[in-house]
Amino acid sequence: MPSAWACAVCGFSLGEPIASLETSELCFVSDRRFPGRCVLTLREHATELFEASAAARGAFTEDMSRAARAIKLAVGAFKMNYEILGNADPHVHCHLIPRQHDEPNPRVPAWSHPQPQTELDEQHARRIKYRIRELLATGDNR
Ligand SMILES: [Zn+2]
Repeated sequence: MPSAWACAVCGFSLGEPIASLETSELCFVSDRRFPGRCVLTLREHATELFEASAAARGAFTEDMSRAARAIKLAVGAFKMNYEILGNADPHVHCHLIPRQHDEPNPRVPAWSHPQPQTELDEQHARRIKYRIRELLATGDNR
């Protein structure tokens, strides 16, 4: 397991880093309910998005868009969910959750999924991570 990225100020860390974007780290969360689920973490420490510099906020939004596009294409999701909460972990991070039509409740928030989180099998996870990285590297950045 690769070492996780962690904030030097608060120690926040979630998921396995798979790509460094302009102002954030894209980290993979192995979750059989939502294959392709990731967390995008702002590299600088901020508790609220408005505390980050204007440049970082703008770049974070761009990173979020690029990452969401890559994840959506990688797993063929019908919709991406963007969750910025930070109640338990007060460091700006965005859960990027691809949603699929064959989930039990595809139209309700991801956190209401009836099953507990379990890990993807290793080979499936590896394929998705590879595809996300590939799409980030080759995709247009609109
Ligand atoms: Zn932090």
